[in-house]
Amino acid sequence: MIKRLFRISAYLVALFIFFFILKSFTPKQDFSILIHNGFILDGTGNPWFKGDIGINGNRIEAIGNLSDKRAGTKIDATNLIVAPGFIDVHTHCDRQIIEVPTVDNYVLQGVTTVIGGNCGGHPYPLQELFNELKEKGMSVNFGCLVGHNTIRREVMGLKMDPPTEDELDQMKILIQKEMEAGALGFSTGLSYLPGTYSNTAELVSLVSALVPYGGLYTSHIRDQGQKITQAIQEAIEIGENNDIPILISHIKLAEDSVWGKYEMITEPVEKARERGVEVFLDQYPYTATSSGFTSSFPSWCFEGGREKFLERLKDKDIYKKIKSYIIERRLSSTKNIDKLETITIAYSKHNPEYEGKNLREILLSQKKEPSIDNAVDLIIDVEKNGGASGIFFQMDEKDVEYLMKLPYTMHASDGSVQIKGNGMPHPRNYGTFPRVIAHYVRERGVIALEEAIRKMTSLPAQTFRIQKRGMLREGLYADITIFDFQTFKDNATFSNPHQYSQGLRWVIVNGEIVVDDGMHTGKLPGMIVYGPGKKQEEENENQDRTGNP
Ligand SMILES: [Zn+2]
Repeated sequence: MIKRLFRISAYLVALFIFFFILKSFTPKQDFSILIHNGFILDGTGNPWFKGDIGINGNRIEAIGNLSDKRAGTKIDATNLIVAPGFIDVHTHCDRQIIEVPTVDNYVLQGVTTVIGGNCGGHPYPLQELFNELKEKGMSVNFGCLVGHNTIRREVMGLKMDPPTEDELDQMKILIQKEMEAGALGFSTGLSYLPGTYSNTAELVSLVSALVPYGGLYTSHIRDQGQKITQAIQEAIEIGENNDIPILISHIKLAEDSVWGKYEMITEPVEKARERGVEVFLDQYPYTATSSGFTSSFPSWCFEGGREKFLERLKDKDIYKKIKSYIIERRLSSTKNIDKLETITIAYSKHNPEYEGKNLREILLSQKKEPSIDNAVDLIIDVEKNGGASGIFFQMDEKDVEYLMKLPYTMHASDGSVQIKGNGMPHPRNYGTFPRVIAHYVRERGVIALEEAIRKMTSLPAQTFRIQKRGMLREGLYADITIFDFQTFKDNATFSNPHQYSQGLRWVIVNGEIVVDDGMHTGKLPGMIVYGPGKKQEEENENQDRTGNP
């Protein structure tokens, strides 16, 4: 008996020694990445605390004092801000991610998740794009909304009438299909075609198709000038009738006649919130907008398609009508502002020589008098030749700052994936997030740094019900942006937009380093961010691709 006990304990001791030796020969690694000694801003709006973050696989495994731990890669974050990766809820990124999977203009702002399908347009069918992105990879996470314009065009073309019962049902079926593919919600672009032809009843009915799936309603509302209050009320009505959250896109007072009248926005929003309706705003930090010139035209002139539009232009009376509409919408000012200088061509396939020039400069270069009359003819001519996108300086800096401070406003770019050097895009494509921190936090003191970070991370994640992102917490995905608060700054300007920011040091997406000491590594660890309608197994399958433990 004693002999036997002795033998067992000798065996145990030998085993113990064996493992001890084995352990001392294998280098001990607690984490794949250890971020050491940073000022941690966790995304909730709390002020920073000092600490370390340990990452394994695609998750944050530990936060605290981890100075005695070992890691495959150690990042010295001394004197740097360590924040959750920025979530841009308002983008027009979609198929271009396949062309530019490194999504440099977003990654180099510290953005780790982009949401596309805004303003009523999305890549249909969504499942195809998701499959392709999963196969080819991308540097950021990508989620998408279902666009009303896309769905309506698919079912009704460019018809101006309200939908028949049958057309309404067909649109709902398409919405459901996209929700099941993993869309995050439904977006409208009510100053674009053909969304502008829809009425509130159509939208209330279409949004009811979301209800079984969850998801939110986002809207580029019908009017961002004198009728903005009614337009906001319409968006609220559509969400409230279906009991789902509402996000008003790229909030602004876009006509000089309403500058300073913030209550036109805050009153309907805050009244709705008081009665328990979830309403949020997103905003880009610039005083200029950017869109196609098509939205400067009356919507009826495009009914039936392009051929019909060109035909209508030949009718003198109709031409006159279109002209006076554009003057009222784009070229008149209550503050004696020379509107010809406030409108610049960003892209024009047919007239690339116009890019980067304002209407006055273009007319002068053609030896024409820079009059409003000639400017409208120019705009119509550009549209006739295939269209162009423009940049329109139509906001007031004070309004931008006021709206930014509202607790329910989040930062977003309204941009898209850029090919460096192509055209003269709005600088928001390259500079939105660093600009908020450099200009509005550091220079102007409009909001505190922790508040800006909250509006870039946990607020967007909460609004879109994005699980396990938007905060720094153990167990969440390791999407992390590390920057130097003293030097982080946007460099993109209206005259020189293709410029990356400075002061960004590291970006980690799903536990992989995508920006290493300021340089893009080319890694493609991005995942699809699915909405609540997606079946669970497929979501798990996707997560396993990047080594979910
Ligand atoms: Zn929009």
